[in-house]
Amino acid sequence: IDVVLTKTGEELPVNVGRVIIMKNITHFLEQDEAKTNFIATISHELKTPISSLRLNLKLLDDSRIGSLNEEQKELIQALKEETHKISSITSELLDLAQVETGNISLDFKAVPPSEIIRYVTKPATNHAKDKHAQIRFKLAEPLPEMYCDSEKTAWVLLNLINNAIQYSPEQSQVHIEVKQVNNSVQFMVRDFGPGIEEKYQQQIFEKFFRVPGSGQKGTGLGLAISKEFITKQFGDIWVESSAGEGSSFFFHLPLYKRRIGSQYQV
Ligand code: ADP
Repeated sequence: IDVVLTKTGEELPVNVGRVIIMKNITHFLEQDEAKTNFIATISHELKTPISSLRLNLKLLDDSRIGSLNEEQKELIQALKEETHKISSITSELLDLAQVETGNISLDFKAVPPSEIIRYVTKPATNHAKDKHAQIRFKLAEPLPEMYCDSEKTAWVLLNLINNAIQYSPEQSQVHIEVKQVNNSVQFMVRDFGPGIEEKYQQQIFEKFFRVPGSGQKGTGLGLAISKEFITKQFGDIWVESSAGEGSSFFFHLPLYKRRIGSQYQV
């Protein structure tokens, strides 16, 4: 605004200024870091008691200890499932905390995309069998090597495939496509499940967020970890979906040739 009009129509010049608000956020960042460190410590400390819980439940279930009636068997089964859930939450929390605090070392190398597919094929097809789902892999040929950590990348791809199977009805199809897009390799996991409403498409990448009505199985951490793993590898991850029409999850990773010397060329 340069001038204001007074009631009489007179133009009065106004000094145009700027207001700069500066806030020291060091305290918040420290708090955030302390929270993440706390989560990392707790999840690490919980690992041993959870392992012993699982072992003891297994022993209880062993017929050599004594026979159990049906009701006792059911109770043990329920306990096993809950323990399994606690165990996956703690290990996912630990992964996330480690990657957030930078306490995870990424093993960057030249990785052919086919290596990632090789890692995930067996566990993905095993999961698909449980739901009578069909998985189709399509890899463009030839594909250049990526600059990434193969284990973390395989973790992300498997997480996306597992979600695609889990949230789709029985006997559904899951399509995985890998191709080069400009200076990146693009992975796509497409499903024909319920889809994700637009208003949730950002939130699903946040810690613990689950779309309402997504069922009991799940921690809401998988996509948050995937996002951390991919962004730490200079990549991108996103979803394209509309409710009722399935979802396509994508991630990009840079090509190895963009790495020059010890520098990464963005
Ligand atoms: P989890 O699957 O353990 O709940 P994720 O972080 O992997 O956690 O996913 C977060 C949420 O995003 C899920 O709870 C679900 O609501 C939604 N979601 C993820 N993948 C899909 C998919 N392929 N189809 C529909 N919804 C999905």
